[in-house]
Amino acid sequence: MRKIDLSNFQVATSETARDINRRIVLNLIRSHQPVSRADLARHSGLQRSTVSLITEQLIEERWVTEGANGRVPRGRRPRLLHLNQERVGIIGINVRPIKTAIALADLDARFVAQESLPTAKDPKQFIADVAPRLRNLFKLHPEISYEGIGVSLPGRIDAATQRLVFAPNLGWGEVDLKTPLEAATGLPVELENAANACALAEVWFARRTETVHNLVAVTVSEGIGVGVIVNGQLIRGTTGAAGEFGHITLVEDGLVCACGNRGCWEMYASNSAPVRYYTQAATRGRNRPDSRTQASGPSFDDLLRLAEQGDRKANEAFDQMAHYLGAGIAMLVVGLAPDVVVVVGEVTRLWKRIGPAIKQVVESRVFSHASTRIVPTDPSAQPRLRGTIALILQKHFGAPAVA
Ligand SMILES: [Zn+2]
Repeated sequence: MRKIDLSNFQVATSETARDINRRIVLNLIRSHQPVSRADLARHSGLQRSTVSLITEQLIEERWVTEGANGRVPRGRRPRLLHLNQERVGIIGINVRPIKTAIALADLDARFVAQESLPTAKDPKQFIADVAPRLRNLFKLHPEISYEGIGVSLPGRIDAATQRLVFAPNLGWGEVDLKTPLEAATGLPVELENAANACALAEVWFARRTETVHNLVAVTVSEGIGVGVIVNGQLIRGTTGAAGEFGHITLVEDGLVCACGNRGCWEMYASNSAPVRYYTQAATRGRNRPDSRTQASGPSFDDLLRLAEQGDRKANEAFDQMAHYLGAGIAMLVVGLAPDVVVVVGEVTRLWKRIGPAIKQVVESRVFSHASTRIVPTDPSAQPRLRGTIALILQKHFGAPAVA
């Protein structure tokens, strides 16, 4: 139960009750569609007349449409309701150090259009690259009304200023992306850390997490990000920077990280780590330390392919990465006791091998008999991009802030 915040509260009005019921009905339609008004009344416990009033309003606002007739044993066949897929378009932008993806999605986070571009080294250039592509997208789909733009970033967003802060892998300084993107498109823009976006994607779109209230998403890519959902809510901390477990020291006096600290978790378990392990082993094998070998080492994608083809050295490099992933996840399991830890990233393609290795490390370090499940996400489902859709969706479908 949340304590009532006497410095920032909102008393309930009759409008509050209407808003809550409206959002409940909208969510019930989303999860049970196609659904009849009678079933909505049954699921919600609301009066039939109240349900009718709310659904009329939702139809008028074009959030919901009436589709085919349902089947009943006798009497008038009810008209079934579902979300209006044609009404709403949400733009998602997933920024990664090398490549940025742009997508147009409907209310069910189905991607209608998608494209990508190289990520500019300079944030001003990034806006100049992205804005005309967005305007072009609007031109190509004039029938859609756009609700907003969600942006996922490999960094943290300052909660008060909405500026991007602390993005060591992107190399951008503290920057305001919201204002220029809103000015260029006329749409509201929501920014979020990539790991938080992935956690939201799980909460909003994954079937298995329908009843999960405590969830941790670990994104493994150029760095390691962690998004934490406790009691159904994202943990942000005072500055919005909560969740930076990737920069907790795991190896005392370890390797220097881009954040300036030494021995950070992400130095040992992000995508650059297995490349380093592989190159080091190759150099050791030849028994002559050669910096040129390091420079001409495989890329992460090459190494992933080698491992999938059964290359022993490549698999050993991923075993080492899995060990450190397990060490960090053990810390999350002990500290947060979540229902589920979802692992996001291309490395999950090797889950058959790394999954058991991760779980073994976690089991050896967790003292209580934890019931936390550790599961991979499907990279083809593009969780980072789906998370950006959830950013906008939750404004209409999320629980309202009261008291
Ligand atoms: Zn660091």
